This record gives sequence, structure tokens and C-alpha cells, in this order.
Amino acid sequence: MARYAYVNGRYVDHRLASVHIEDRGYQLADGVYEVVGIRDGRLIDEEPHLDRLDRSLRELRIDWPVGRKTLEFVIRELMRRNRLRDGLVYIQVTRGVARRDHAFPTTPVKPALVLTTKNSKRAEADAGAGVAVKSQRDIRWERCDIKTVALLPNVLAKQAARENGAYEAWLVDDAGCVTEGASTNAWIVTTNGELVTRHTDNGILAGITRHTLKSLADSLQLKFVERPFSLAEAKQAREAFITSATSFVTPVVKIDGETVGDGRPGPTARRLREEYVRFASVGEAVT
Ligand code: PMP
Repeated sequence: MARYAYVNGRYVDHRLASVHIEDRGYQLADGVYEVVGIRDGRLIDEEPHLDRLDRSLRELRIDWPVGRKTLEFVIRELMRRNRLRDGLVYIQVTRGVARRDHAFPTTPVKPALVLTTKNSKRAEADAGAGVAVKSQRDIRWERCDIKTVALLPNVLAKQAARENGAYEAWLVDDAGCVTEGASTNAWIVTTNGELVTRHTDNGILAGITRHTLKSLADSLQLKFVERPFSLAEAKQAREAFITSATSFVTPVVKIDGETVGDGRPGPTARRLREEYVRFASVGEAVT
């Protein structure tokens, strides 16, 4: 018997079911899901599961991909087609397919809807002997050093920045220090001419551009320090800028509406950008 999945309006052979590679769920973890248990062909707690789905969607400002009544129908139809008596129904909704950018798409996008089912034995079969647990420190999600596709927090930060007319978000930790940008590393030039960026640990992504800039700063004999800097210090800084493979070295002229320095790209940032562009043009072109 073919097992079906439901993908954006169609019941398709599970083995061949696929979503677009630019789906924001796949690219950025910009989506939500629910799992509903099935026992003796009955949905368990369907209503609170769909209520929670509604809440999750609203929190992320993703529209329902189909009406709730339609979703209830699709769940049942998929169960029927898969002759599901005991198991699970997975419901996944993402913001949909759009040109890659952390911030939400600016043109309307249809949310993507995927349903799959899984057969399983009755739950009580596993419960008999009891199970073991292993304790783990709850680090969700303190591993910003991993360049993971789980970018939802970065997506939300970038979107908030864009909605406030800013290009990038600077993320501030509990101590009031700037860790990094939503998709860039953060730098300042202090009033005594020190080039400062936060040290690397699990709190930030060790940017490749950041690393290259360190050696460029070295060759320019700039005073370079890796340490935390506060948002207040950044606002008082002579210059600020961001680095990434996408933005190279980009001067920051405003933080939370407050002007940095004289409000224009500073000499250090401009010089480092020039050096970086020079560095980028070394070597043999592939195309
Ligand atoms: N921090 C984060 C969170 C990023 O997503 C990026 C972009 N990859 C960076 C920093 C900058 O890293 P890189 O210089 O390697 O592009």
C-alpha cells in the first residue's frame, strides 16, 4: 500500500514527496509544527493541538495555509488514505518559498503546508518496563558558535530591525553587551582608537570575515582587542561597523536612532573595507 503525504494541496506518494529547496522552513527554520496522536483511528486532543498551532502561527505572523476546517478534513483524508489506526499525524507549516533573506519576504508568500503520518504500535507496548532518562543542562539555544540552519531567532531579530528602519539587529546579552548581529559580527572603534569585537565562544559565530579582518587590522598596525563591549559603549564609540561574507565591512552610523561618531562612515571602517576588497581581489578568478 502506498503511503501518502500531503504537500501544499496534493496527496502524494510519501517516497516522492518534496518541498522547494528555498522553503524558509528548510533554509531558516522559519516554521512551526504540531503532532497529534492517533489511537484506534481517533485523533487525541485534536482541538488543543490546533489551538496551539494557531498560537504558534500567530506568534510568527504566518497565515494559516488553509482554513482550520480544511485542515481538519485533510488530516482525516490522509489518515483514511494511509489506513492509520494507531500512530501520529505531523502537521508542518512554514512561511513558504522566497528568495533567501533573514527578514520576512516583502511580497506576499503562501505559507507551505505538509502533513505526514507515522504508524506506531500502541503506546502501552513501550510503557511496560519503564524507561531511563539522562540529565542534560538546558542550553536551548546557547550554541551560537554553530552555523546551524535553526535561524528563527536571527530571523525575528532581523525582521524587528527592518521594521524599525534598520539594516541589521545588534543582539544584546543579559549583561548589556553586544554579542553580534543577526547575520554579521559587530565591531566598534573606541574613542582611544582601539578596534574592538567580542571574543569568540559559544555566544557568537566565529565569522570568517571577522577572522580575516583581524589579520588585516594587524597589518595596518591597528590596536585590536577581543572583549565584550556594551551597547552604551558602542553608542559612544568613534566608529562602529559590521562584517560578514555578505556585507564585507559595512559602517554603522546609527544605533537605536542615536548617531555614531559624526554620523558618517568613519576612516577605520572605510580603510578596512578597502583592505578587505583588495584582499578579495587576490587570486585566480574561477568564472
Ligand atoms: N554572525 C552570524 C550570526 C552570521 O549568520 C554571520 C554570517 N554568516 C556572521 C556572524 C558573519 O560570518 P561570516 O563572516 O563567516 O560571513
